[in-house]
Amino acid sequence: MGELRLIERNVHEVAVDDRRMLFHVPTTSLFELDGLSGAVLDLFRDAGPVSASDVRRCFDGRFPPQDIVDAIQDLIDLDIVNDGRPLKPEQPPIKIQNFPLTTIVLNVNTGCNLSCSYCYKEDLATPAEGDRMAFETAKNSIELLLSESPDRDRYNIVFFGGEPLSNMALIRDVVAHAEELFPARGKQVDFTLTTNATLLTEELVDYFDAHRFGLTVSMDGPKALHDRNRKTVGGKGSYDVVAAKARMLLNRYRSRPVGARVTLTAGVTDVVRIWDHLFNDIGFHEVGFSPVTAGDIELFNLNGAELAEVFDGMKRLGRLYQDAALENRNIGFSNMHQLMTDLHEGSSKALPCGAGVGMLAVDKDGGLNLCHRFTGSELDTFGTVEDGIDRTNLSRFIEDRADRTHVDCGTCRIRNLCSGGCYHESYARYSDPMHPTYHYCDLMRDWVDFGVGVYSRIMAHNPAFFETYVTPRRANGK
Ligand code: SF4
Ligand code: SF4
Repeated sequence: MGELRLIERNVHEVAVDDRRMLFHVPTTSLFELDGLSGAVLDLFRDAGPVSASDVRRCFDGRFPPQDIVDAIQDLIDLDIVNDGRPLKPEQPPIKIQNFPLTTIVLNVNTGCNLSCSYCYKEDLATPAEGDRMAFETAKNSIELLLSESPDRDRYNIVFFGGEPLSNMALIRDVVAHAEELFPARGKQVDFTLTTNATLLTEELVDYFDAHRFGLTVSMDGPKALHDRNRKTVGGKGSYDVVAAKARMLLNRYRSRPVGARVTLTAGVTDVVRIWDHLFNDIGFHEVGFSPVTAGDIELFNLNGAELAEVFDGMKRLGRLYQDAALENRNIGFSNMHQLMTDLHEGSSKALPCGAGVGMLAVDKDGGLNLCHRFTGSELDTFGTVEDGIDRTNLSRFIEDRADRTHVDCGTCRIRNLCSGGCYHESYARYSDPMHPTYHYCDLMRDWVDFGVGVYSRIMAHNPAFFETYVTPRRANGK
């Protein structure tokens, strides 16, 4: 054998109790190191370039020679150790020819009946002043979806706002149209909606239930926390109305689990308390947290200390998630569940999300945006539903963002999970959606290490958890 070298950027080790877990960065796979493979890895770490005589000197008499050869070969196959041959391309350069669009987000009304102090929506207005999407624009959006991806079996239509319930007339028209159109072409369509819940009625809940909507309610926790930011136009807290409507919704809704979306801002950081209220008191099936680190209004952004507090809280809740998972229960902590799913499936992402590739958001005028957070922003749109996608500019954006040659992400150990972070976070923080979200990389890396520990423990003591709660969820496309 010639000289072998460790490829540091492809390997990361996490100590989990008394076990050594190897995180294979290119494929997001986990392996447990046994005594021999751990010792081989240590040799490469300590010795720099390693020769056959180094291996003999270190291991002769300690392990059978064939086992040593096999252990080294495993590391070579994983591109963790290299003998000078070219490494396998990790994420081949992305070349976008066609956009595999399966999700279209319709911004049905820029108006909202609440006036949340931290709201990021750049085109937000009160309902009376809101601009409503015309049915023709929605219809053209659906045509675009079908013409861009004619061969798919299943599509998603997402209703967004402002507050989408303030334009129910359009939602009903779109649902009626889609439920005729898609089945007639032998295809399925799903509907999703995020609401502040204040306009929900029993009749509306039954309507959504009948059409199997995936519903998410924006709610920030118990009254004292929720009311800090989620206020009516008159400045009063909205908790009492939202909690009552959410309870009514959860009592009546049968077709799909209902989730809560929490926006964490300055002063709203107690993750465990918020989850406890939303999951145990209100009864949501899932609770997801979005930390605001880069909004327009500096006052609401989490500072460094608060962000660290948020991640501490996420870890405390992560331990509760782990304890429950060991008893084969899922406590609906969405952020943790997503990480478990990524680790279980070995997700290796060239891009942080489907924005601009599998998903586009349509603004009231029919402009195509990367996702719902960009509608109304100053970032140029990428075509219109009438004229089609601006393929040149959108593919250039996606291809350039996926290229890690000139950014620190190229050697980051979570590069295939984070993939440079959310475009809108980057846009809000650096005025540039191309810029990686460098402002909380260390916290993200620590969070993934924590997740590796949780995953390894659940896998060791109750692997059935993944069969019960992860694989079927994927199989259902949810
Ligand atoms: S943004 Fe930071 S954490 Fe994410 S991949 Fe890039 S370097 Fe890593
Ligand atoms: S760009 Fe950010 S906000 Fe938009 S879909 Fe992607 S992760 Fe979500």
